[in-house]
Parts: sequence; structure tokens; C-alpha cells
Amino acid sequence: MTEKSQRKKEQIMMKQEKKKKRTNRKEQSDALRLWILGVCAFFIFTCVFMQMRKRQTAEEKEMEESETGSAVWEEANAEREEREAVSEEQNEYQNEHKKEMIIQADRLSAAYDYDEAVGLLKTMEGYESDPEILNKIKEYEAQKASCVPVNMEEVTHVFYHSLVVDPDRAFANQEKDPQAAGNNQWMTTIYEFEKITQEMYDRGYVIVGIHDLIETSVDENGNTQFLPATIMLPPGKKAYVLSQDDLSYYHCYDNYGYAAKMILNEDGKPVCDYIQADGTHVTGAYDVVPILDAFLDEHPDASYRGAKGVIALTGYNGVLGYRTDASYLDRNGNLDRDKRDWLDEHPEFDIEQERAEAKRVADAMKADGWEFASHTWGHIRIKDVSLERLMQDTQKWRENVEPIVGSVDTIVFAHGQDLGDWGAYPESDAKYRYLKEQGYRVFCNVDSNLYRTWFGRDYLRQGRRNLDGYRIYNNAVGNENNISDLIDAAEVLDPLRPPVPKLR
Ligand SMILES: [Zn+2]
Repeated sequence: MTEKSQRKKEQIMMKQEKKKKRTNRKEQSDALRLWILGVCAFFIFTCVFMQMRKRQTAEEKEMEESETGSAVWEEANAEREEREAVSEEQNEYQNEHKKEMIIQADRLSAAYDYDEAVGLLKTMEGYESDPEILNKIKEYEAQKASCVPVNMEEVTHVFYHSLVVDPDRAFANQEKDPQAAGNNQWMTTIYEFEKITQEMYDRGYVIVGIHDLIETSVDENGNTQFLPATIMLPPGKKAYVLSQDDLSYYHCYDNYGYAAKMILNEDGKPVCDYIQADGTHVTGAYDVVPILDAFLDEHPDASYRGAKGVIALTGYNGVLGYRTDASYLDRNGNLDRDKRDWLDEHPEFDIEQERAEAKRVADAMKADGWEFASHTWGHIRIKDVSLERLMQDTQKWRENVEPIVGSVDTIVFAHGQDLGDWGAYPESDAKYRYLKEQGYRVFCNVDSNLYRTWFGRDYLRQGRRNLDGYRIYNNAVGNENNISDLIDAAEVLDPLRPPVPKLR
């Protein structure tokens, strides 16, 4: 090969080399640009992504914060509402409580117990700054200041037997049936009792307890003395004592239209079990106790401090319609015919159950303001019986009646009799001394005087007035005029009552 062709070859090779280098360089620079571009793009993308992420987080946070805020607010709101509800409830309770206290205090003041009424309101927290309560207290104090003392000598005493529910059954055939004639004379009907109670109330009569009449003190020798108590009533009001005798529902009352026994209703209040003419039993106000209880519920001002009446009980047929007397156990002994018949009709008889039920009724009556008294166990004639008989009778009462009604200091003599003439009982009277030893301090008879109250040194005597068929009828038709201070007899007389022969 020639030098020339050698050089040419070298030149071609160099050119190729250069071209290759150029191509390489170009490729390199293209790659670099691409890399830079990629990095830039990555960077921008990252930035944008970060920014977006940041914004999103901020938004989320904001949203979260706003949600938390609303929850807190809601919670606070609920708490406030609850607080308001509680305070509303408290206010409501306080208002209810106040209303209740005022109702109770009004009842106490209506029953002439002004001090109790004021005392009750003063137990209320913050009463000193409550104008309504302060006005009430002022009102009660003004009422108290207007009262005047009752003349103890002029407190009358009226009494009833069990009321006739069904006059048709009680008085039928009285010409031939001595029991019906007795019913017509000695008994008052529900119609009459309700009219009397209303009319005496309208005339200002207020029932007082027989023990409300008595104030006791102890003299220098340690002996108890009886003195007239002070009863304060508004001007124009008159005090009277009420009693009911023979609340035993004797066997002889059966089928004559009287209640059969005292029982307790579902509220624990004394009511009557009454057997209707067709033999079905009904429960309700069929005698003095539940009828008067209902009347006094409606007219608290008809009774002085919740006083009711005196229930005078014998024991021989049990009490309150329960066969509680030990004589019923003597099935084979010398039993009365009516007791034997009753036992035959009641083979399930359980004296302990009878006594327990009678005691529950007696307890409820006492809790309601009723008092009990002895009417002697055997309805004996105190003037006629021997001291020995009186002692036996009194022990039977203690054994059979006292466990049911508790101990008593009042004796309401049966048949209207009395130990002796009006005034002080002579200390030489053995029966009087015996009854005093037995704890009796209040002695009641029956008379027709408007009022008769006598204070012995340590005992009280009171005459009672019968508001029965005999008295009402004979006053209504003008044969007598001795109850017009209490009632208008013609207005009160039951139209279903037949004429009552004037026997006494
Ligand atoms: Zn009697």
C-alpha cells in the first residue's frame, strides 16, 4: 500500500472516530438532559404531592378539630340541660312539697289546731323569706286570736246505736215483733244520722273528744285532780261529744238490716260488711264510724283537732262483729241458743283469728281518732246488780275486750243507768270505789238534759242524749221538745220510719 492511500485510510478512520465520538457525546448529553428532566419532574411531583398531603392533613385536622368542638359543645349543652332539668325538678318538688305542707297546715288550722299549723310551716327551710308562708302563719295566728273559750258546763253529749241501713227490714211488723219495735225506738237510720250530722255542723257544732274536756293536775299530796280544760273555738261554734253504744253487731241484729261487722278496706280504713236482703255482701259506709269519718274528711272544721267519738262496747257477743268472747269456746257448756246456732253455722270458727281481726280494726279506729269505753261486759244494770256481779262482769270485760281495744278509763253505763244521783258519787259507794280501783275515771249515763257535765275531784260525769227513733219521732210530731237546740226533728225524721209509740 502507498503512503497516500495509508494517509487516506487514516483520515477516513479519524473521521469515523470523530463521528463516533460526536455521536457518543450527543447520546451522553441526551441522557443527561433526560435525567435532569426526570429529577426535576420527580422533585416537582414530590413537592406537589407533599403540598397536597399537607393540605389534606390540615383539612383533616381542621375537620377533626371541628368535630371535637361540636362534641364538646353538645356535651356541655347536655350538661346544662340536665342541670336545668334537675333544678326544674327540684323547684317542682319544692313547690309540690310547699303545696302539700300548706294543705296539711290548712287542715290543722281548720281543725282549730293553729299552733300545730304554724309549727308545721316553720319546719320548712327558708320559710322566713317566703311571703306566701309568712302570710299563712299570720292568717293562722289571727284565727287563733279570734277564738273564745268553750263553756265546759255547756258541752252536750249525743249518742247513737248501730245505724239502721234498711228501714224496711228493721221496722217491719213492729206491732208483733218486739225486736222490730225495739229497733224503731232505740235506733237511728243512716238517713237520719246523715241529716243530723249535717244540720249540727251547719249550726256550728264541733265534735270534741271526751278527754279534751279534762285537764289533770297533781295536788300537794300527789293526788291527780280533774279540772275543766280550756277549749278555744271561733265565736259561734259549740262543742259536743259523740258516742256510739253496743258496736258489737249482736246476733239479735241479724236479718234486721244492720251492718254485720266492721272491717278494713284496702286503704286500711274502717268500713262495714253489710249483708243485703238477698244475702249478698257489700262493703261500705253502713254505720256511724265510716259515715262520720267521710264527713270529717270533707269537713275538718266539724271536729276539734281530729276528735271522733267514744265507742262503748260490751263483750258477751264479742266486739265489732267478731265473736271474740271466750264463752264461744264453751260449745258443750251452757251456751245461749243464738251462740250455739252461730257456732253450728260457722264450723271454721277460730277465736284467735276473730280476736286478731277485731284488734286490727280497733287499732285502725284508734289511729283515726276514735276512743273506746266499757259498756259493761254483759250490758248489766249497774244500779241493780250486786258488787260481786259487777266484779265478775268487769273481769270478763278485762279478759275479753281489753286485749282488743286496750285499757280504757271510761264507762258508759248500760240501760242509761248510773251509780247514783247527779253530783259527787259518795265515797261510801262500794261499786264506785271498785270501778275507781279498776281505773275508771269518766262515767256516762243517759238523760234528757241539754247538757250535763260534772267534774268530781278526780273524775268526770256526763249525761248523754239519745238521738234515736223515739226522740226524733216524738220531737218531730210535737210530743216532746228537747232536741231543737241540735236539729229540726221533723226535717231529720226518716220518711220510712213508722210511728214510734210513746212508751217512756
Ligand atoms: Zn247499750
